[in-house]
Amino acid sequence: MADEIVAKIKDAVDIVELVGDSVRLVKKGRNYSGLCPFHDEKTPSFIVSPDRGTWHCFGCGKGGDVFSFVMEKEGLSFPEALEYLGRRAGIEIPRRKNRGQTTDLYSVMEMAVDFYRAELKGAAGAVGKGYLSRRNLSSQDADAFELGWAPSAWRALNDALRREGVTQEQLLKCGLVIQGEKGCYDRFRGRVIFPIRNVSGRAIALGGRIVDGEGAKYLNSPEGPLYNKKENLYLLDKAKNAIREKGRSILVEGYMDAIRLHMHGHRETVASLGTSLTEEQALLLKRFSDKCYICYDSDTAGQNATLRGMYVLQRAGLQVFVVRFPGGKDPDEMLQSEGGEDLFNEAVENAQPLVLHHIGLFKAAAEKGGQAKAAEELLEGMAQLTAVELAPYMQEIAHAVGLPDYQLASELNRLRRGRRLSSRTEESLAGDVQPLDLETADAETPPSCDPAEMGLLYLLWISRELRVSASVAEVIRMFQDPRLKGIAGALLTGEQPESLEHLWLEMGDHFPMSALSGGASFCDTLSGTDMEKWQKLSADQGRRVKQARYIQLKAMMFRGEASPEELAEYWTLAAELKR
Ligand SMILES: [Zn+2]
Repeated sequence: MADEIVAKIKDAVDIVELVGDSVRLVKKGRNYSGLCPFHDEKTPSFIVSPDRGTWHCFGCGKGGDVFSFVMEKEGLSFPEALEYLGRRAGIEIPRRKNRGQTTDLYSVMEMAVDFYRAELKGAAGAVGKGYLSRRNLSSQDADAFELGWAPSAWRALNDALRREGVTQEQLLKCGLVIQGEKGCYDRFRGRVIFPIRNVSGRAIALGGRIVDGEGAKYLNSPEGPLYNKKENLYLLDKAKNAIREKGRSILVEGYMDAIRLHMHGHRETVASLGTSLTEEQALLLKRFSDKCYICYDSDTAGQNATLRGMYVLQRAGLQVFVVRFPGGKDPDEMLQSEGGEDLFNEAVENAQPLVLHHIGLFKAAAEKGGQAKAAEELLEGMAQLTAVELAPYMQEIAHAVGLPDYQLASELNRLRRGRRLSSRTEESLAGDVQPLDLETADAETPPSCDPAEMGLLYLLWISRELRVSASVAEVIRMFQDPRLKGIAGALLTGEQPESLEHLWLEMGDHFPMSALSGGASFCDTLSGTDMEKWQKLSADQGRRVKQARYIQLKAMMFRGEASPEELAEYWTLAAELKR
């Protein structure tokens, strides 16, 4: 009997889909490969074979079938894995006695979801239905998103589930009831209920929206054995396949926004349930796609707390884009307004990369007179990103804050070092390799960069000695090309060549390696040791940079725009260049 069910489940569960929920898989011939979820690795050595229905890791040696995968991944016993996969495949598993405690709690949550859904459909649900219809949600919509109604009575859920054999302790552990002086009472009363499921679709918590009366507008389950707020996103279980297909996720603030976007075909939407985003949530999204579009309402999107959350996502390796809506609307209102669908799509298409969004906020704040504080916040934010990530925006940032490029780069390095020293966890984060946001160039087209700059970059690349001994500010100043400058900045702030190269390969970014090989060929034409080549190139380059500055100052002087300091700089340069 058990063998029969095992075979049935193996047939019904798609191993690529199952593993794909937690591992980013890439098709390689007949198999799929990805980064092993059971050991820490940077190069994929984890293989899934759909033909054989197996998985294997060449790194840590683990492997098996769908059962061993969920047992290993979810920490389940074999009977629990049977039930878990049976539920997933829609195959009924005969009930066992003494089931694992967590499994019991999951089923208690399912019972609660069912109870609240039935209440919404019944006579007591009229208030809830009234609220939903005011929000333009039909009863079909309520069904599709499993919405429910928690009656106003004190012990409705408690009594109903106790009659079904659920213990008081289980209800408490699930956070469904609260221990009072005269016994337990329901946590959710007089609220519309939104079930929160984890990435594999198990109910783990509830959200409740008050309809009238007193109390917080939204109430969520407390954290407990099933629910960890930091590690979940609302509707991710429904959205994950669409995120994978569309290559992006859309992140909104609240339940209603997320539901509305799904109803309008944006099935890649999840809600953050608060704006303090966590690294865990970022990694969860990154399993399915590298791009995240943040759709908060305009008030929220400009707040510092929100920005910090966005940087958390970016630092965890997501490319963050910020969507802005005209007129301070939230996504839910916008989609329901006339022509809202088009406006919404337009806003998503015009979403700005996080750095540019932040520069825009900075400019607005500076106009209102908060220049110094805003500049500080802007640079603090930027310093969370690596030099490589910032490279495409350096000129824009420098222009916005009114610092020359090289000074900006050294200011950012100073802030980064401060961050590293201030906290050990920050240090480990900042030391991690970050993905690139560089403009990519085809490998076939040779980069249109100055050969001497590429040569300097190549020498930095091959010489650890140079990377640790050279002055960051001086070296950065020698690069005119922002992309090369970004890579040089990364190397000088401790990024390792091999991890950068790995990252570029993964990102399909061919520009850096072709620039480096261009630099290598250029260096071959020079004589002497690598150190001698460096000295020659950097002296030439230093002179060229000075000449360019000299010409710039001279023009300013003729136009009568040069300040006394700039005049002094001009005369110093003139004397140096004559030598
Ligand atoms: Zn492994």
